[in-house]
Amino acid sequence: MELRGKESVEENICVVTRVRPLSSKEVETNCPNIVSVDIENRMLSITKPGESTNNKPRTFTFSFDYIFPETSSQMDVYRNVAKPIVDKVLEGYNGTLIAYGQTGTGKTFTMSGDDDPSMQGIIPNTFNHIFSKISSTTEDIIFAISVSYLEIYNEEVKDLLAGKNDKKLKMYENEDGAVYVKDAICLAVDSVESITELMRRGNANRKTRATLMNDRSSRSHAIFMINIEQRCQGDNTMVLGKLNLVDLAGSERLIRTQATGDGLKEATNINQSLSVLSNVIATLAEGKGGHVPYRSSKLTRLLQNSLGGNSKTTIIATVSPASMDFEETHSTLRYAARCK
Ligand code: ADP
Ligand code: MG
Repeated sequence: MELRGKESVEENICVVTRVRPLSSKEVETNCPNIVSVDIENRMLSITKPGESTNNKPRTFTFSFDYIFPETSSQMDVYRNVAKPIVDKVLEGYNGTLIAYGQTGTGKTFTMSGDDDPSMQGIIPNTFNHIFSKISSTTEDIIFAISVSYLEIYNEEVKDLLAGKNDKKLKMYENEDGAVYVKDAICLAVDSVESITELMRRGNANRKTRATLMNDRSSRSHAIFMINIEQRCQGDNTMVLGKLNLVDLAGSERLIRTQATGDGLKEATNINQSLSVLSNVIATLAEGKGGHVPYRSSKLTRLLQNSLGGNSKTTIIATVSPASMDFEETHSTLRYAARCK
């Protein structure tokens, strides 16, 4: 499918939306689809169903840098939003891609994809791109690719590559102002196969811990980090770029009755870190050099060197088209619009 929008992502902060298709269950139950997309003008509208005769349906319209309707393929998304960032990282910039949205709207589908090779998401497509670039480079350049995969749950940083070991990790800043996670596993990879295997291992750990802790996967942020180092033999120079691929915790408000004890703590931490993230991005997007509250959450602290400055950042807001999800979809679109 040809998408008409911007030729490429030139701005440092880009906000896009992706609508998932109605699920087979939603189709079976004749669930109304409330989303309509105007690709050409990059507008998306949602209609709030009218509840009674004097309460007419209301339509809300939003504009974004790109809108991916339910017919978009994984490749459409990769080509239009991820590839421009990966290319920048290969030039030595830092980049961050973030999936935001209600649980069940396709954040993990968009970032990781599913097992069907034609359905692979941004992370595996990024690997293909990086390794094909390496094999097609004729210059005298030595590439070194390394990977970390972290999880932030309840404002604690955990290592998704560390197996059952659920140790809490600490963040520090070195003399150059670079933020790093002490003892985080960082593995060198030299092929698409080895990096895919690491992604699978991390995702499996995220799932296992989720089962142990009552579906924690929807309540943790997962951050896949790829470091790309290129050493030019000829003039002995080095280019370093870093890419963060982030699958955020579900943005839904937890039902009040459930939000007690651990649930309340989780909900508070998630709401807090998602609102800090939008404050940070909105401040950067404003470009007035105001105080950026990176330190107000673990997530923004971790991403500090890859948000703002010369870094490229893209938010992909994922939404459901189902009428019963209206409130969450509306709130996701408002959140995303605020990041512009
Ligand atoms: P999240 O990570 O936001 O909770 P998932 O990625 O797990 O959501 O998606 C929920 C379900 O919807 C999965 O079965 C997934 O395969 C399916 N899905 C999500 N987005 C799409 C899409 N764009 N096309 C087809 N199926 C999708
Ligand atoms: Mg998920």
